[in-house]
Amino acid sequence: MIKAKNITKSFGSLQVLKGIDLEIPQGKLYSIVGPSGAGKTTLLQILGTLSLPDTGSVQIKDRQVFSLSERQLAAFRNQEIGFVFQFHYLLPEFNALENVCIPAFIAKKSKKEAEEKAKELLSFLGLGHRLTHKPAELSGGERQRVAVARALINDPAVIMADEPSGNLDTKNREDLHDLFFRLRDRFNQTLVIVTHDENFARQSDKIIRMKDGRIEE
Ligand code: ATP
Repeated sequence: MIKAKNITKSFGSLQVLKGIDLEIPQGKLYSIVGPSGAGKTTLLQILGTLSLPDTGSVQIKDRQVFSLSERQLAAFRNQEIGFVFQFHYLLPEFNALENVCIPAFIAKKSKKEAEEKAKELLSFLGLGHRLTHKPAELSGGERQRVAVARALINDPAVIMADEPSGNLDTKNREDLHDLFFRLRDRFNQTLVIVTHDENFARQSDKIIRMKDGRIEE
């Protein structure tokens, strides 16, 4: 599903990624762990095509993503990669349903198709009764589940999440982690999740342990 080869990345004189090789199969949940500054977010951003590596390649669903034009890459990213961040980045003036529909509208889906899918996802995530609530009217856990629904709306090849539960209390954190496992088990969803939660990482299919810009054996 995802193949990264020889990824390097520097910021000025600081080499943050020192040659990363990685393969993530379809339907697996991989976690990326490691100390602060190890390069986890930088790697996830490159795998998610949000940032360009200095060297190396990333293949997602048999596409060499950095060979695509800027426009093709933006469309590919919107279609095939669902992002969940520590902060939800929902648009405050739109309600839950409208927020979830945004990537579907960008992918030129019809309003009817987008809304049907968004309702289905929000119901699956236990938010069927919150469709018209704006982010400020939702709890932290609910907001993060809306962000997950938004990430799923285009049936992406992969969900990439950076510390998705970092801002949640224990109960909401556990619920979100359970949800990621349900997505894997029910929909064969591929997920790559940067986390500081060792307990969660231990339950994932594989732990990618980073240190100083490399994957530790
Ligand atoms: P954390 O667990 O604290 O989030 P991390 O493992 O995700 O850390 P990265 O965010 O990938 O680490 O950062 C790795 C190193 O690269 C850090 O030293 C950071 O300061 C540096 N860095 C990251 N992004 C940039 C940038 N845009 N410009 C300059 N330096 C950066």
